[in-house]
Amino acid sequence: ARKIKLLMLGDSGVGKSSLMDRFMEDYFSITKVQTLGVDFKLKTIVLNDEEVDLQVWDTAGQQKFHKITQAYYRGSHGIVLVYDMSDPKTLDNTAYWMRSIRDTAGSNRVQICLVGNKVDLREEVGLEGQQQDLAGMVETSTGRKVAEEFGAEYFECSAKTGCMVEEAFIATATKAYEA
Ligand code: GDP
Ligand code: MG
Repeated sequence: ARKIKLLMLGDSGVGKSSLMDRFMEDYFSITKVQTLGVDFKLKTIVLNDEEVDLQVWDTAGQQKFHKITQAYYRGSHGIVLVYDMSDPKTLDNTAYWMRSIRDTAGSNRVQICLVGNKVDLREEVGLEGQQQDLAGMVETSTGRKVAEEFGAEYFECSAKTGCMVEEAFIATATKAYEA
């Protein structure tokens, strides 16, 4: 079967490991052990009636320095770039991640999806106030605009509820498969 390698990128705490666990193992834990180093998981999926071996690589530690090694990017086909919708500065920081991708991946054509994670927190806030005070949550239009600037597809997900997680990974894998 064909192999597709995807990378999880984004600031520490945005939910990269949680999204990967949700997609790969349909699992969520509120107490997350911090990933050390680099970790990957395998899953066979079906794209266009063909079995594909999907390899998803998770990062940790290194993300604090906004520096990911060349070795990590090598051979990757797609990137799931994650920010936390309840923390706008993690969306600002996606610009650094994009630069890192361009500097490191070089001329390799890598497919990127921008994922706003923890969308469940917006719904929680929405339930309380009749005034839909989003309490500092990033708005969809803001996230979408950033994705457009990057030429990336945009998804709002929750690793907690599972909302849109499958869609985001399948879209990234599909783009990578077709590239
Ligand atoms: P990482 O550092 O990017 O790998 O982030 P983690 O996956 O370790 O998650 C960081 C924290 O955010 C953990 O406490 C998770 O339980 C929490 N978290 C992750 N995804 C979600 C989500 O979709 N919704 C909510 N409410 N919390 C989440
Ligand atoms: Mg992690």
